[in-house]
Amino acid sequence: MSSDTQPGSIREARNSILAEIGDAVTLVAASKRQPDDRIDDALAAGQRVFGENRVQEAQERWGDRLAQFEDLELRLIGPLQTNKAEDAVKLFHVIETLDREKLLKALTKGVEKTGASAPDLFIQVNTGDEPQKGGVSVAGLSELITTTRDLYPGRLLGLMCIPPADEPAAPHFALLKKLADAHDLPQVSMGMSGDYALAARLGATHVRVGTAFFGARET
Ligand SMILES: *Cc1c(COP(=O)(O)O)cnc(C)c1O
Repeated sequence: MSSDTQPGSIREARNSILAEIGDAVTLVAASKRQPDDRIDDALAAGQRVFGENRVQEAQERWGDRLAQFEDLELRLIGPLQTNKAEDAVKLFHVIETLDREKLLKALTKGVEKTGASAPDLFIQVNTGDEPQKGGVSVAGLSELITTTRDLYPGRLLGLMCIPPADEPAAPHFALLKKLADAHDLPQVSMGMSGDYALAARLGATHVRVGTAFFGARET
């Protein structure tokens, strides 16, 4: 599938996003449902940090490229089922969507069983209390942090959120940053195509940008 973006446009989009977020923030290119030629353009432009939503799609996309680019960092930003935990720990350097103890145990087991080096973890927080959305509730966060530090020592780096689509994002970003600070977590993943600059101003260390980076996704 060839894309409808102009050659060089991913490089330009990347440069302008990087200029907006500044040096202290990491740009995670959210590559779900993007065609191969755009992935290759992103790599040619120097992008090395990618966020994926599904384990299987990520395996297909990155299996060969991982051998080619030693400095790739793959981050799982979509929901993870426990039966995919083993595959996920083998592939991803960072899992941003830990949200329950059962998944934590599956990840721990996956690391033990495969001997893979343990991925770093972020806990996803459901700041809008949306029933259909992943993430631990704000009320349940402290307990999950304690359990994670216990069972999976040294690898919990930060918090992640996806604010409700129909609400201003700023209060959610501010809340996530406050929660991270309160729990001594140095990293915060928040902000997407429409609001990454805002997220960066409100303390994001990682922004996850898809369409503003690559162009529109395939459906
Ligand atoms: C798709 C996705 C993004 C990027 O969304 P855009 O609006 O295309 O920038 C960011 N985070 C998560 C969790 C996503 O699923």
